[in-house]
Amino acid sequence: MNQPDVSIVSIGIDVGGTKVLGGAVDENGVIQKKVRRDTPKSGGDELNKVIAEVIQELLAEFPSKYIGISAAGLVSSDRRTMIGAPNIANWNGVDIAGAIDKLIGVKVVVENDANAAAWAEARHGAGSGEKNVLILTVGTGLGGAVVINGELYRGADGTAAEFGHIRVVPDGILCGCGVKGCFEQYSSGSSLMRRAKEAIESNPDAARSLLALGDGTVTGLTGAHITKAALDGDVLAIKVLGETGDWLGMGIATLAMAFDPALVIIGGGVVEAGELLLGPARIAMERVMPFAGKHPSPRIVGAKLENDAGLIGVADLARR
Ligand SMILES: [Zn+2]
Repeated sequence: MNQPDVSIVSIGIDVGGTKVLGGAVDENGVIQKKVRRDTPKSGGDELNKVIAEVIQELLAEFPSKYIGISAAGLVSSDRRTMIGAPNIANWNGVDIAGAIDKLIGVKVVVENDANAAAWAEARHGAGSGEKNVLILTVGTGLGGAVVINGELYRGADGTAAEFGHIRVVPDGILCGCGVKGCFEQYSSGSSLMRRAKEAIESNPDAARSLLALGDGTVTGLTGAHITKAALDGDVLAIKVLGETGDWLGMGIATLAMAFDPALVIIGGGVVEAGELLLGPARIAMERVMPFAGKHPSPRIVGAKLENDAGLIGVADLARR
């Protein structure tokens, strides 16, 4: 095994609602060491302390001046402050870079987790070698990121590429952002669950094997159950995944007109369904693509990096 060149290793910290994952990552996006802690329920100062400990543990073995922290939420454009963190207590408006500097005297940058994961995927995952890439992450909501000419596009305030909140249905389903008819109400993990519940209620007999994967009730059903059932050939699960892919593809046709990407990468847990999601997305994109046949359509592929993408991406963004 080759010894890592510590001079080019950077430190990434991925802060989630339940765990803090830290890693020393080399310039090829390979994790050399990983550290994991629970996220303190009280968030805020306690969380900052845990992050500082993880950083110190990694720095002891891999000295680096590049340290990045990623988390879900709105991050200030100077990459210091968490403006709004939906999943973590007492972290709204916190100057995280200032807090970490005060605790252990190191400089860090803060990035939105979707941007970090997308950057990793574009640089070291499915987008490796491509300069113009869109990433759509199908999670509870629908996250997005854009890489233009090899650089992550942040926008004027750092909130670019919130594709999930593009309005696709006038006066459609009410979204958490306050607007009706957002893209993520039709193509996300939550919309997949809504569709599954509607399909089960209208045809309970067809849902027996699907429900048996959980505790037998609709409330016990998860997105992972639907994906597994679909892969095992369950007709209802295949149908609801296909509908989610259909909406995804229609949205991608519109986004392709705005960004002309060579590649669109789909991330999130549902990607395990593979072609059962991506196939319908490609068909729908072609069906509604403006100027069809006059220009190449982007390729739609699944993400490759899975759970470590946020960590790898923020470590790499810290160098920039
Ligand atoms: Zn919305």
